[in-house]
Amino acid sequence: MNDRAPSLPAAHLRGLTPETLVAVFPEIGFDMSQARRVITRLVHDYGSDLHGIPGLKKAKAEALLAASRLERLEVTDRRRSAVDPFVKYLFRASDGRAFETVRIPLEQPRFSVCVSSQAGCALKCAFCETGRMGFERNLEPWEIVDQVLRVRSESPERPVTGVVFQGQGEPFQNYENVMTAADVLRHPCGGRIGSDRITISTVGLLPLIDRYMEEGRPYRLILSLTSAFDGKRQSLLPVAGKWPVEALAEAMKRLARRQRNVINLAWVLMSGVNSGADEARELGRLFRGERVRLSVIDVNDPTGRFERASDEERGAFQTALSENEIPFVRRYSGGPDIHAACGMLARQARGGEAHAV
Ligand code: SF4
Repeated sequence: MNDRAPSLPAAHLRGLTPETLVAVFPEIGFDMSQARRVITRLVHDYGSDLHGIPGLKKAKAEALLAASRLERLEVTDRRRSAVDPFVKYLFRASDGRAFETVRIPLEQPRFSVCVSSQAGCALKCAFCETGRMGFERNLEPWEIVDQVLRVRSESPERPVTGVVFQGQGEPFQNYENVMTAADVLRHPCGGRIGSDRITISTVGLLPLIDRYMEEGRPYRLILSLTSAFDGKRQSLLPVAGKWPVEALAEAMKRLARRQRNVINLAWVLMSGVNSGADEARELGRLFRGERVRLSVIDVNDPTGRFERASDEERGAFQTALSENEIPFVRRYSGGPDIHAACGMLARQARGGEAHAV
């Protein structure tokens, strides 16, 4: 019988901060200023070697490269929208797993990057193409960081100033790796993205919202609510059966007080499903007296089971939100010509049906 523990894969250097680099490779003996220069070269500058780093001896650089990994993700598809500056990437990891990333144009002008945190997703939300794929695996921290660095390297015309964890996967089901990636992305030697510009979107795993708050994480958390009624919410997001809306609302209020911030909510708007005044009234009741911002996102369901609300229907919902003192923003999810909803390109890449959008 072989009772040796399986060996862990070598650490990937783009999943590390200078502090963790020093801790992970004690035998190489980096001091903090060397570690900062190494991570700045590999993450901030997206370099692929350690040549010529001041104060870093060649033997030390070679020892580090021999003990670690530094590969990049492969881009297997890259679709530019003909109607706006959205670009959708399909990445492939070395084990063949495919996942998507979207470059989102912001005003100013700047870009934000919508990243995947998992290949596939286990949560099976009724309106989501990724949910229909099922779960494949969690992404490693470097695989999340690399999505941002690659998009940034191909977008010199505008700075990348934001990251949103709203691609494939439920970020809180890959909690540790998502937090590690966010820490690398905000680090001055890493992505240099402001922590208030890093947004993590969850469908609401209550124990992890509490953990996130207790750990004092500095990022922006959005609760994807999508219905204010337990029964309907559970029919759309099966995981919602575990935690009632009321308890999620209370957790988000606690977090907002702790962070001294607004309560961020997201709402995937579906015609005839969650666009009624009853939903707006219930939101008004749940969050009375609180500072709230609701992001309204049009559904993008290639099966046609869930349809986008018409301008008139959406307008009536937004009026009802205003009447119930729920401030909202409409999020444009971009380029239907590039299949911008998460899961569509990955599903095609796996040989699934290519739905017309
Ligand atoms: S909406 Fe998000 S959590 Fe739900 S199945 Fe899709 S990727 Fe998973």
